[in-house]
Amino acid sequence: MIPTMEENCQKVDLIVVGGGLAGLTAAALVAREGRSVVLVERSSRLGGRAMTQESQGVHFNLGPHALYCAGHAFRLLTALQVPFAGRIPAAGRALLLGRTATYTLPHGLVSLLTSRLLTLREKWRLSRILSELPHLDARLFDDMPLGVWIENNAGTGHLADQLGTLFRLSTFANAPEQTSAGAALDQLKLALAGNVWYLDGGWQTLVDGLRERAIASGADVRTSERAESVRDDADGVIVRLAGGAILHGRALVLAIPPKSACELLDEPPLARWHDSSVPVRAACLDVALDRLPRPERRFALGLEDPTYYSVHSATARLAPDGVAVLHVMKYLGCAVEEPAGVVERELEAVLDRLQPGWGDRVIERRFLPGMTVAHALPSVADRGLAGRPGVAIPGRPCVFLAGDWVGDRGMLADASAASAEEAARSVLDGLEHVSSSGDRSVAHAGA
Ligand SMILES: Cc1cc2nc3c(=O)[nH]c(=O)nc-3n(C[C@H](O)[C@H](O)[C@H](O)COP(=O)(O)OP(=O)(O)OC[C@H]3O[C@@H](n4cnc5c(N)ncnc54)[C@H](O)[C@@H]3O)c2cc1C
Repeated sequence: MIPTMEENCQKVDLIVVGGGLAGLTAAALVAREGRSVVLVERSSRLGGRAMTQESQGVHFNLGPHALYCAGHAFRLLTALQVPFAGRIPAAGRALLLGRTATYTLPHGLVSLLTSRLLTLREKWRLSRILSELPHLDARLFDDMPLGVWIENNAGTGHLADQLGTLFRLSTFANAPEQTSAGAALDQLKLALAGNVWYLDGGWQTLVDGLRERAIASGADVRTSERAESVRDDADGVIVRLAGGAILHGRALVLAIPPKSACELLDEPPLARWHDSSVPVRAACLDVALDRLPRPERRFALGLEDPTYYSVHSATARLAPDGVAVLHVMKYLGCAVEEPAGVVERELEAVLDRLQPGWGDRVIERRFLPGMTVAHALPSVADRGLAGRPGVAIPGRPCVFLAGDWVGDRGMLADASAASAEEAARSVLDGLEHVSSSGDRSVAHAGA
């Protein structure tokens, strides 16, 4: 006998679609309050962009990943007792790679005073900008392009180039004309306030830890399960999976990219926002060497060119002793891109300059030409973070969004964590109301 839809349907309090950091966080937070949760991830592995690939004992994150110590993700992972270990990259001698010369990247007063790059006046100006930054009201600059803020404060010379490197480093964005200065200033403040951690074992430790927290609280976490359609009903939401299985949730959190969310939800305002949003993208060359030709060269940023270089294994345990794991990256802008082969050679040239002979020492290498670092650049057009879609969807009280493109708090993984936390809180509030009022769906709570 063919089962009826009712018999074929698993009923839970919360369905989470997407098994990256945002989905796993939302699942763990709701499950630990004793609610039934099922999470579906379309890929055969959990983690999304936070996954780490391991081969011959070498751990490669998907491009360079650093956890902001003063950010939402760090705080929330700690509150959830997810075990992770790491360290702040040693200040050491960081470099600025000009097209014709190499300079020291100042990281304190002494190195700033001895910098050959800046004039005395520029040094004074930079130290003033950095000392005033923590007290600056970034909201005043939400609708100013970052490029204009830099020019107003640093002119157009080397000081402007140097500030540009710091903004690229903290936001991953290379679009000063489109980026909201307010959002970029907040992100630079965050980076300078707490620095970052490189994580032992890579970001997979966060993924595994969140998965364990969710499962220990009873969540049903499934891989290779793609959500194919979403339909509201009187008691909540029905999600049909690609294999034909049906889930019924009293609430739903979609922790997936905006394109996938638009495919699952017929939401014209969301689709319109998505059509006009700009992703933050990067090309990454991830390399493991059996030894570093120049071990003292651990970190460098392109001065005029939007490039990044860092030996992550000098700080975090990512490979067997002696083996070096390096990430080289180009921050891609919004303009028409060069062919992937040209960008790869550009990144190899950075390595030629910093680690001569590196090509003979390669154990593993991988080139990722077009990674989406964040799905939405905090743009001037959107007035910074305030223009991102909210966690709640107007008129869809059982459906919530989470991800690095959702909500008005934080960027990158911090935005994923902050929106996942808000989504989980909204779901729990709605379920609480439902339990006390006797209504069956979160929708009836008017959440
Ligand atoms: C090169 C690079 C460097 C980065 N560096 C940093 C950094 O230094 N610091 C920082 O804070 N952040 C960094 N990030 C960003 C960070 O990795 C992301 O913000 C974060 O991992 C996003 O998590 P998420 O869960 O929101 O989204 P994702 O990781 O994209 O997860 C979404 C998941 O949804 C799944 N999915 C999609 N559609 C469906 C469907 N229909 N059914 C089921 N599952 C579905 C996908 O398979 C995916 O696993 C970096 C990103 C990149 C690419």
